[in-house]
Amino acid sequence: MTEFEGVVGHARPSGILLSSLTASRVHHAYLFAGLAGIGKRMVAVRFAQALNCADQRDPRPCGTCTHCTRIAREEHPDVIVIEPDRSKARPVIKIEVVRNLIRQVHFKPYEGNRRVIIIDDAETVNEQGSNALLKTLEEPSGETVFVLITAALQSLLPTIRSRCQIVRFAPLDRAHVMAALADAGVDADTAKVAAAFSGGSLGDALRLATEDGLAARREFALDVAALRPADPMGPLQLAGKHARTSPAELLHLLDSLKTFYRDVALVGAGAARERLVNVDVEDAVVALSADLTVDEAIGHIARIGEAQQALTGYVDQRLLLEELMLSLSPTKSTHVQPIQR
Ligand SMILES: [Zn+2]
Repeated sequence: MTEFEGVVGHARPSGILLSSLTASRVHHAYLFAGLAGIGKRMVAVRFAQALNCADQRDPRPCGTCTHCTRIAREEHPDVIVIEPDRSKARPVIKIEVVRNLIRQVHFKPYEGNRRVIIIDDAETVNEQGSNALLKTLEEPSGETVFVLITAALQSLLPTIRSRCQIVRFAPLDRAHVMAALADAGVDADTAKVAAAFSGGSLGDALRLATEDGLAARREFALDVAALRPADPMGPLQLAGKHARTSPAELLHLLDSLKTFYRDVALVGAGAARERLVNVDVEDAVVALSADLTVDEAIGHIARIGEAQQALTGYVDQRLLLEELMLSLSPTKSTHVQPIQR
């Protein structure tokens, strides 16, 4: 059986849901768990369509009937999607929102076969809300199906987890992410790098590919890789260049620099090239792996991590970067003089 239309990857979770539809053994509560930005919500919407589609000859939704189209537009009265306000520093789904939902469970669906309640980022339901939700999950109504979605399974109450059928979503493989990026109009070279950096999250890959984040990452890694013992001012200049980069952006750049040294260590350890993330600067990775031992590369990763830790506190960003860049700068040649300031 093929997957839901428009869903990238996820043959296994889609298969689980489709066979429960085929066997008419739909559970009253599902918990979709897996990395953010990989398409869990899209599957939840397809599942809600399947449950309410006017054409029930096929377990997959037709996508064109009045139920399917209104569910896709989030305009169907029986399919309710709630999510926290993600613009907040700490997004929360409040108890009032959960109470409103629960009230609906007592009514019959207005138009469709089943009411479907999708709670995205379910781990953000606050404690009171979780307890109210738990009560509802303990007394299932045959006409309502809950789909909880989370990227933080362990943050949900164990009692809630145990009331749901957990459907696990694996990170997307690179080929799937690249294909989806190509569909979104991203050029092949950018798609290749964004997919490698994304860790299997299509959402992250799209952000990387479209926000020009890749160019900045590439430039930073190449700048650091170009530090030479013969150029003692190099580390200081590089630190100066990023003295005013916003801390959030700098943390991203340092994240990508860690992956760069991780790749250097991998090449040094003889790993296959397919495992590299920094595919757009592979030559620099390979060149550096000839100069650094695996232990040295791992040591660099640790130092970058320490700098990131320090960056989250009150710190002089330029001084911190100077120290970091000096520690990453190679010292193997004859030039080992400390820099005079
Ligand atoms: Zn339909």
